Amino acid sequence: MKTTIFDSPASRLHAVPAGHPEHSGRYEATRAALMALPGCDWVENSGPAGMPDLARFHTAAHVDRVLSASAEAEAGEWVALDPDTLVCDRSAAAALNAAGAAVAAIDRVMAEEGGAGFVLARPPGHHAEPDRAMGFCLFNTIAIAATHALEVHDLKSVAIIDIDVHHGNGTQCLAERDPHVFFASLHQAPLYPGTGAESETGLGGNVLNMPMPADTTGAQWRARFETQLVPALQRVRPELVLVSAGFDAHADDPVGGWGLRSNDYAWAARQLAGIARDFAQYRLVSVLEGGYDCPALGRSAAAFVGALSEA
Ligand SMILES: [Zn+2]
Repeated sequence: MKTTIFDSPASRLHAVPAGHPEHSGRYEATRAALMALPGCDWVENSGPAGMPDLARFHTAAHVDRVLSASAEAEAGEWVALDPDTLVCDRSAAAALNAAGAAVAAIDRVMAEEGGAGFVLARPPGHHAEPDRAMGFCLFNTIAIAATHALEVHDLKSVAIIDIDVHHGNGTQCLAERDPHVFFASLHQAPLYPGTGAESETGLGGNVLNMPMPADTTGAQWRARFETQLVPALQRVRPELVLVSAGFDAHADDPVGGWGLRSNDYAWAARQLAGIARDFAQYRLVSVLEGGYDCPALGRSAAAFVGALSEA
């Protein structure tokens, strides 16, 4: 698939205190690994998302809270929105540009009638709920992308597949209020944020949660992906495939407890590219979420994007 990296250098603006796992070195490691891939187009600096984009998912009060906290932060200091979600004076700019890159990726794959987009940006987004920042996430980038696709491009069926080791509670909120969204998540349980039980099935089954225990292997993950997720996506027949591409299920990750390797991410990319080919006119947009061991993050993202570009 023709593959474009949507690079948001504003990712560097979101500073965190020393020792925080979600630091800008993650962006640099991913960027360096992706730059070594042959054959990908790069789009830099798409610009910040606009208020109409944010307002399709987030409340005005939430947007105002994030912008105000960032505006109030003194240089070199932070304002805490939850115990592990901190904003500095330039964090809002980073999060707005991440969302802007995702919206640009949607517009590009729709305009070009297909292709894979990978949004290289931080902070991550999938824990951010309509009215709440949490879990390192300020704005829910993938939910903003999905609602943009549905409303601006008039799509009727969008699938969001969350492969981060944590449950995408914020993104699930979108499926719970919009039947045009199908949300599926493979995640470790028990683990933060504690949501994502199999019994959470959304609106008549448009949420598919596949929790698995700590120490899940790549083979076990692939088996669940192949036997449960792929058939579900074949039933949904999405017009657009979106991926919350967190890589913290990697064996080397200090936060997750699973045993995936970079070749598991390449395998997953081929499965998802197959769904995009069969149902979505090759339209697939991925957004970087977690992944906290920088070398493993870079290798995993490169394996995932490289497999998309070869699919
Ligand atoms: Zn995660």
